[in-house]
Amino acid sequence: MRKPDESKAVIQEIALPHGYTQKMFLKRADLIHPALSGNKWFKLKYNLVEAEQSGYDTLLTFGGAYSNHIYATASAGKIYDFQTVGIIRGGEHQPLNPTLKFAQDMGMKHHYLDRNSYRQIHFGKLPDWILKNHSHSYVLPEGGSNSFAVKGCTELVNLHKNEFDHFCAPIGTGGTSAGIISGLDCNKKFLGFSVLKNGEFLYDDIQKLIKSFSGKTYNNWSINLDYHFGGYAKLTSDLVDFVDEFEALNNVKLDYIYTGKMLFGINDLLSKGFFEDNAKILAIHTGGLQGNAGMDKYIRKLRDL
Ligand SMILES: *Cc1c(COP(=O)(O)O)cnc(C)c1O
Repeated sequence: MRKPDESKAVIQEIALPHGYTQKMFLKRADLIHPALSGNKWFKLKYNLVEAEQSGYDTLLTFGGAYSNHIYATASAGKIYDFQTVGIIRGGEHQPLNPTLKFAQDMGMKHHYLDRNSYRQIHFGKLPDWILKNHSHSYVLPEGGSNSFAVKGCTELVNLHKNEFDHFCAPIGTGGTSAGIISGLDCNKKFLGFSVLKNGEFLYDDIQKLIKSFSGKTYNNWSINLDYHFGGYAKLTSDLVDFVDEFEALNNVKLDYIYTGKMLFGINDLLSKGFFEDNAKILAIHTGGLQGNAGMDKYIRKLRDL
C-alpha cells in the first residue's frame, strides 16, 4: 500500500440545502489515503515517529468493533511495518464485520474484552495478561488521543488559519479538536459537534489535551451538544436523508457517525442565523467512510421510513 498523501486534502467550496450568505468550505482530509485517512492519519503520524524512534515494533490499541481508529491503526501497521494488536470491546462475532475483517487482513491481532473489563481500562492500567503478553508494545489510548495526536491535528488547520472565520469538526474523544484549537492558536473560532450524548465532559477532556501539548488555554472555541441524534452511532431518518441530499448536491460522501452529524448541525445553525453574514466557514471532512459498510442494513431501513 502507498503512503498517505496530505496534498490530496484539498479545500473545496460546498453547497448546503439552506439558503445563506456565508461561504462554506470542506477540507477533504478523507482523500489522503483509501485506508489511513482523515483525522486518524493526523492523530497517528507523530505516534508512529515516536514508536519507531523508541524502538517499538508493535502498536497496541483499543476500540469498538466498528472503530475507525482500529481500522487506521491496522493500516498504519501494514504501511509502516509495525505489528498491531487491537483490544476490541465486547465479544467476538463471526463472521467478522467489515472493519475487523479488514484490520485482520492488514495483520492486526485481536483480543476481545467484555464491556465491564473494557470500561475499567484507563490509559496505563491495562489488565495483567495484556501487560505480560505485550510489554514491548507502544500503547495508543482509545481513539488515539494523546499529545502526539494533538500535535498532528494542528496540521489540519495551521496553513489556513487566517483564511476562514469559523472552523468546524465532529468530536468523539476530543483529540482532533484539541489539535485544531492548538493549530489556530487564538486565531478565529472553533466549533466542535459532539457525536456523543451528554458530551459536556468533553470541555474538560479537550482542555486537558491542549494543556498536555502546549500548556496553553484558549477561549476561542465551543462545543455544540445538540446534534448527537440520540448518541454514538445512533441515526435517524432525518440524518440519513440529509446525508443523501448532501451527496447529491456536492458529490461528496459523508459518514453517518461523525461528518454527517456535523454538517447536519452546520446546515441547521445556518438556517437559525448562528453564523454572522458573509462569514467563511471551513468544516473538516475527518473521513470515517469505512464505518458506513457496517451500517448498511440500518441505513436502508431508515431510508424506507
Ligand atoms: C475518530 C473520528 C472523529 C473524532 O475524533 P476525536 O479526535 O476522537 O474527537 C471524527 N470524525 C471521524 C471520521 C473519526 O473517525
